[in-house]
Amino acid sequence: MPLMKTSYDVTIIGAGLAGLQCARLLVKQGLSVLLVDRKQTLDQKIHTTGIFVRRTLVDFDIPDDCLGPPIKHVTLYSPALRPLELASQYDEFRIGRMGQLYQRYLQQCVLSGVHWLPQTSYLSHSTGEGELTLQLSSGSSTHSITTRYLIGADGARSRVARDLKLELNREWIVGVESVFEGAVLDGPPRLLCFLDPKVAPGYIAWIAHDGEETHLGVGGYPSLFDPTAALPEFRSRVAGIIDLRKAKQIETRAGLIPVGGVLRNIANSSGLLIGDAAGAVSPFTAGGLDPCMRLSAFAANVVTQYLSTGDVRVLQAYSGELFRARFASRLWARRTASALRQRQLLELGCAFLRLPLFSRLAHHAFFARGSFPDVTPASVSSVIALPGDS
Ligand SMILES: Cc1cc2nc3c(=O)[nH]c(=O)nc-3n(C[C@H](O)[C@H](O)[C@H](O)COP(=O)(O)OP(=O)(O)OC[C@H]3O[C@@H](n4cnc5c(N)ncnc54)[C@H](O)[C@@H]3O)c2cc1C
Repeated sequence: MPLMKTSYDVTIIGAGLAGLQCARLLVKQGLSVLLVDRKQTLDQKIHTTGIFVRRTLVDFDIPDDCLGPPIKHVTLYSPALRPLELASQYDEFRIGRMGQLYQRYLQQCVLSGVHWLPQTSYLSHSTGEGELTLQLSSGSSTHSITTRYLIGADGARSRVARDLKLELNREWIVGVESVFEGAVLDGPPRLLCFLDPKVAPGYIAWIAHDGEETHLGVGGYPSLFDPTAALPEFRSRVAGIIDLRKAKQIETRAGLIPVGGVLRNIANSSGLLIGDAAGAVSPFTAGGLDPCMRLSAFAANVVTQYLSTGDVRVLQAYSGELFRARFASRLWARRTASALRQRQLLELGCAFLRLPLFSRLAHHAFFARGSFPDVTPASVSSVIALPGDS
């Protein structure tokens, strides 16, 4: 490992998908980048199922060997386990081999010159003349480095957001899943989604099966259920649908998912937030991987421009307020999902969705190409060139 410097253009706290994507892009712009994570290696304590949607797979360079086989089929189950089968002509989903993907992106970062600091926690920072001093701790030792800009990619409960006095996530669901090899499920690779207010209040329980790996999980509002009790209950409920008798459990994953929509105040002249720290998760589907890729790409662009011009107006483009308008329907859908917790109501809703006229709605919910709002370099330029510039 190259000798550690004590001063960097940008320091990124958190090497999840958001931090890795941002680090890869910033170093390509010629900036010196420090990437810090408290984990020792990135293939441990993974807390995502890792389902990538078609639009992400088309728009970004996710290495093929870090993805499972494609999935075109979805089955939506009512609380009484009545199925609605949905199929797409496209390869809609692929389950990421996330440990492998994180390691691959990290390798790309390091080869491009990012300085990687594992097993190191961000503690706090102070602001001085045009730079910040960060306190980091590795084991029992504490040290400080200086940086021109700080990026919080430190997940749903972001310490960086708090210290930068940016907005904090307030609404969550919690997800817990077991990962298996050798599960038997008839038919093609599939996502199976279960509406069940007992084991998944306000969200869904799921089986994501790509023929190689199977993820079985539950998610919902933490105040309404005990996910660790709900997971075995769900497993026994679906024993007639998936055969796990000879399957080997290889992992357990769990985590909080912020579902209040992208936060409004996510940047200032000292730093900005990306990924879960910015609340960049679809409030409806709870998908956060696509937003990680898109918002981090945008952030890299904004930070590069900000550090080269010193013009704080560049940061105005990086506003959750601008993205939230595109989230309006998904926030509305989240409110509906969290209110629809009665079994009979959900059963009735599912009966409607099985009618041909309404099944298009379900098709749209699972297969539409909606994702995190696209943000482009033009968005930044348009802000810098606002009237009154001259
Ligand atoms: C159970 C579950 C299943 C999910 N499934 C899907 C799915 O299938 N598809 C989808 O699109 N989305 C899914 N999501 C959401 C998605 O996984 C997240 O939105 C996404 O992974 C967030 O990435 P991130 O990089 O922002 O944060 P994280 O992956 O949380 O990374 C944050 C990193 O910061 C580090 N860190 C935190 N604090 C500090 C500190 N003080 N110092 C140093 N390091 C620190 C952590 O160690 C971690 O590595 C799921 C979420 C959960 C919980």
